[in-house]
Amino acid sequence: MTPYDDALRQATSKTPLIDGFGRTVTYLRVSVTDRCDLRCVYCMSEHMTFLPKAQVLTLEELDRLATAFVDLGVRKLRITGGEPLVRKGVMGLIENLSRHLRTGALEELTLTTNGTRLSEFAPDLARFGVRRINVSMDTLKPDLFRTLTRGGDLAKVIGGIDAALAAGIAVKINAVALKDDNAAELPDLIAWAHARGCDATLIEAMPLGEIEFDRTDQFLSLKDVRRELESFWTLEDSDHVTGGPAHYVRVKETGGRLGFITPLSHNFCEACNRVRLTCTGTLHTCLGREDASDLRAVIRAGADAKGLEEAIRLAVDAKPQGHDFQIVRSGAPAVARHMSTTGG
Ligand code: SAM
Ligand code: SF4
Repeated sequence: MTPYDDALRQATSKTPLIDGFGRTVTYLRVSVTDRCDLRCVYCMSEHMTFLPKAQVLTLEELDRLATAFVDLGVRKLRITGGEPLVRKGVMGLIENLSRHLRTGALEELTLTTNGTRLSEFAPDLARFGVRRINVSMDTLKPDLFRTLTRGGDLAKVIGGIDAALAAGIAVKINAVALKDDNAAELPDLIAWAHARGCDATLIEAMPLGEIEFDRTDQFLSLKDVRRELESFWTLEDSDHVTGGPAHYVRVKETGGRLGFITPLSHNFCEACNRVRLTCTGTLHTCLGREDASDLRAVIRAGADAKGLEEAIRLAVDAKPQGHDFQIVRSGAPAVARHMSTTGG
């Protein structure tokens, strides 16, 4: 516990964060960088312009903002990016945030990563109380992986997954379903994950940010994927719920859990418990809308704990009821910012 935590605890009213539609916000995703060592075709353009350092929150500012949310009732914190493990000093941030696990304020501290640097960091992540992570991997074929990520080395990611499992961290494999690229091998990828004791989740490509391709060419409906999987597997409904957009089943033949993230259907907005903080301190209360509150401006203007609490409550109060994604052949993305900026 830092002196700042004490001051915050005394200054804030401790009433949970409840939005204008009665939903309690208990889950914060924090993007710690917009940079990445990969360039996945659906996520980034080949030549991305990254943010100047001065715009990006310092590690201390990230800690202060995340801590403010924890003190207002956030129970689950996911560190993401860009690629979180390429941010210099990120392990120090994770170590510091782990104090909230020890006090019981936080239930879970977790991370979404592309896995390229996991071999190096897995033992420390385990030591800092990280119990589960999501690793994004769209294919088991090294050549296709190199193409989809524009240069990535699949062996490093698999080595990272093994290191995390060896350190006692549960791994969920996330794969974006892409029509002409990995559709045919999704069953192999799922079976591979389940054989290692990992859950797997398939994600529909979302229209976030300008990329070089037409998204309608990449888009693959998970309804169709599910129908295909059901032609040779038995998918049993699972009661596993997360408050997020994933719907889970158990694959009888592999014994593993499989999630479907279908952001294009609205059915999860009613139960949405999450907000996202970008690495520039912008709070987005809905992934699929342009709403934004500048918390960096609030703290850099010298706001005290009370002032920050007010800014957070104001933003959460205005959380939109739902999003309005559509994949249409208009050329323009539904939301201009990339997933790597918002934090997936
Ligand atoms: N770099 C880390 C990683 O890849 O896991 C964390 C950030 S990444 C933006 C988080 C997740 O968003 C990944 O699982 C990635 O596949 C997914 N993602 C990125 N762009 C997407 C898009 N346009 N539609 C759907 N998922 C996307
Ligand atoms: Fe990087 Fe993750 Fe985006 Fe791929 S999905 S480019 S790994 S941020």
